[in-house]
Amino acid sequence: MKKFDRGINYYMLHENEVKNKIKENPNFLCEESLDGKTQEYLIENKILPYGSHVLSLVNDSKIKWSSVHQDYLIRNGIILSEVETIFKNFNGKVSTAVLFENFGTILSINACLACFTSGDVDFSASISESPQIEQCMNEIGYAREVRRGVPDSIMTTFVKKGVLPNKDFYVNFEWKPIARRYIKNMRELHQRLEQFRNENVKLLENGIKVLSNEALLYFNLLHVSIGHYYNTSPGVRLYADIDRLIRHSEKIDYFKILSWSEEDNQNIRVYTALRLVHDILDTPLDNYEIFASKKTKIYSNKIIKYLWNRKMNSYTKKTSIYNQWKIDSFSEGVAFIPYALTRLIKLNRSGK
Ligand SMILES: [Zn+2]
Repeated sequence: MKKFDRGINYYMLHENEVKNKIKENPNFLCEESLDGKTQEYLIENKILPYGSHVLSLVNDSKIKWSSVHQDYLIRNGIILSEVETIFKNFNGKVSTAVLFENFGTILSINACLACFTSGDVDFSASISESPQIEQCMNEIGYAREVRRGVPDSIMTTFVKKGVLPNKDFYVNFEWKPIARRYIKNMRELHQRLEQFRNENVKLLENGIKVLSNEALLYFNLLHVSIGHYYNTSPGVRLYADIDRLIRHSEKIDYFKILSWSEEDNQNIRVYTALRLVHDILDTPLDNYEIFASKKTKIYSNKIIKYLWNRKMNSYTKKTSIYNQWKIDSFSEGVAFIPYALTRLIKLNRSGK
């Protein structure tokens, strides 16, 4: 198991993995002691719910950490019932909306509810339904929020006061598969997600709609690789979604994912993200070598080189913009210069 930025990933391991590690080494995580600054460290890295879950299994001060974790369980229970209300109100009026990303993953596979960290909830929906969505959201007390830097063509955010005790509650509707201005096969990914919302949907008992496990896994892998260049904030948190999804699924049909990723030209990204989740969270993966053609491996190795810090002996959580472009070009399986030229021309033409 390799470190992610000085070992943040140790505080995000799945419960089963923590127990395995303790069996191997009863002092696991005690060695990583942060001299009483653990809580600060976890807050700084925005992983307090995960960290409190892990530490409630290993630390001497189990009671303290269980109570921190319990507070998140209460908060997330409130958010869950709010999301149920949203879906109830959509019934018969909005058909394309599915719960997505972090909260969508947790609910879909029944992973630890307390470990939902961000507090913001993300939906994916067709932009053609945005008027109905806005009306439904208004009906239950939400107002449209203009967030700087994110155009309405990519995402619309709604805010409601009074849901959470000390904080406004935000709900995002993402109209695009990944919030990025340029990647080569964006149109294919858009169609793919549209197809998923029609054909690969799971209705949970509480009325909440999510994608099927394979479809969700595919988009979680693309989210971390395209949206976050494999490592940028919230970095390892995105891998925790992938880890939980794989561990909590009875069976993942990797061949199905392979057929999508080949059609969309995303093999290098899917393979590299799977490789990373295996490296940093010890996620059990039976079948991911099916993505690794010779070309895929070569480009994946190039990407990893830009993510690995030899001096620190860990994966980094920062990449310069120049290196992000390089990572993008390798993820598309093309050399850097032709990639960069195409991208500059396309971005200029789109006038953005
Ligand atoms: Zn938890």
